[in-house]
Amino acid sequence: MAEDVCRYDVLKNEKYGRYLVANKDLECGELIFTDTAIAVGPKPDTPPLCLGCYCPVENTLCSRCGWPVCGAECEQSPHHLLECDVFTQAKERFQSVEDWSASCPQLDCITPLRLFLAKEKDPERWAREVDAMETHTEERQKRATWRADQNNVVDYLIDRCKLGERCTRELLTRICGILEVNAVEIPSRGGFSVRAIYPRLAIAAHSCVPNIVHTILQSDYQVQIRAAVSIKSGEPLHLSYTHVLSPTIVRREHLLESKFFSCECPRCADPTELDTHMSTLKCSKCDNGVILASNPLDNEAPWNCTDKKCGFKTSSAAMRKMLAVVQAELDQLDALPLGPEAIEMREATLRKYKSVFHPCHSMLLSLKHALAQLYGRVEGYTLDELPDLVLERKIEFCRLVLKTLDVISPGESRMRGMMIYELHAPLMYLARSEFSAGLISQEKLKERLQEPLQCLSDAARILGREDPQSPEGITGTIAHQSMEQLKASIESL
Ligand SMILES: [Zn+2]
Ligand SMILES: [Zn+2]
Ligand SMILES: [Zn+2]
Ligand SMILES: [Zn+2]
Repeated sequence: MAEDVCRYDVLKNEKYGRYLVANKDLECGELIFTDTAIAVGPKPDTPPLCLGCYCPVENTLCSRCGWPVCGAECEQSPHHLLECDVFTQAKERFQSVEDWSASCPQLDCITPLRLFLAKEKDPERWAREVDAMETHTEERQKRATWRADQNNVVDYLIDRCKLGERCTRELLTRICGILEVNAVEIPSRGGFSVRAIYPRLAIAAHSCVPNIVHTILQSDYQVQIRAAVSIKSGEPLHLSYTHVLSPTIVRREHLLESKFFSCECPRCADPTELDTHMSTLKCSKCDNGVILASNPLDNEAPWNCTDKKCGFKTSSAAMRKMLAVVQAELDQLDALPLGPEAIEMREATLRKYKSVFHPCHSMLLSLKHALAQLYGRVEGYTLDELPDLVLERKIEFCRLVLKTLDVISPGESRMRGMMIYELHAPLMYLARSEFSAGLISQEKLKERLQEPLQCLSDAARILGREDPQSPEGITGTIAHQSMEQLKASIESL
């Protein structure tokens, strides 16, 4: 794409500060812009990792500076070279740790140092793209992370790494703020989580119903921003800075904590989350009502049963506590190894909370999203082994997630691509199983295979935009091959 065709303008208002607006009509899937990270590096509190490729390391250090790298190649990585000079000149080595898998505050200084070095190297880009970035200094001063930044980053870089002649405490403090407010978490090439600053991406305003999506290219950590839906000229471009499958309380808390604002988007403002019912509970006191937040934009507002005669009420604090308990259970399930237990324990958790949550509640939806991906993939539950009833269950879960995504993340997202890919297989197996049982004719089979074919074609198109080395990109390639095979097999019928 020609980068000189700019598809957006930067505007400014009270609500968002700077934000992006489409300056022409954009098609679904259209590349709007690409952005280069000005700095990539470890997140705070991360265990020791290679400063070249970000894989976990143990006891391997750079032969020049003595900081963690996995080998000779990563010593020469452009990500590491500049800081390598700083550490070497200051004779400041990494202090060995006992437990190489525990979080290590020594690495907190790396990404801020890289951002400072990027400023030194390209002051024009800094002035043009970084200087105007938000830091929320006042709010940050009240937090525990402020002290940690002062100790582990500002004091450390000035006193121990002898940066005092090249920069000031004020600048380093600002850099910490820029990172805390604007950095995004991205997967490294090895699939480990790191953070990066993309100045143009950071301007995009948030919405819990985004209309743009981003993809990280693993070779050079470039980001591509695309239209998830067709967007009219003049419409703001909204990215989601939080997990789209989380319920309103959790999303708003996360945004306040990490991005320093209270989201008031249409999804947050609606107790039913735009009729998806992702925050809705069943009422334990009556059969007619459900429990909703009386005012989802007020964190202290009570939750009420919608049946006036019932009158059941609970506090938002109780609701938050309950969600945290269930989330902790879900996190434990996520830590299970891939095997039959991963399915069986999730099904048990679904049964356990069936009477508590609306079937579309975020907590149950997350379980169903996981199960939709697990059925057909683990020992004892491969596609050939699944009875028709379970194939139908996988289909039901895929369709529920897709229907919800239509509302909360409309258009072509990674999650949709992966879900449609999951949906094609049970549809195909079910049609073939009914055909071999003599339940449907060959003509009917042909007709029934059209939907899985469409799923594969959509999945191949959507996931084809992902980095080919990423799990989603690999699925995209497989979807493309399976589509060709299915086409051929339909033609031979
Ligand atoms: Zn490495
Ligand atoms: Zn080094
Ligand atoms: Zn919102
Ligand atoms: Zn009730």
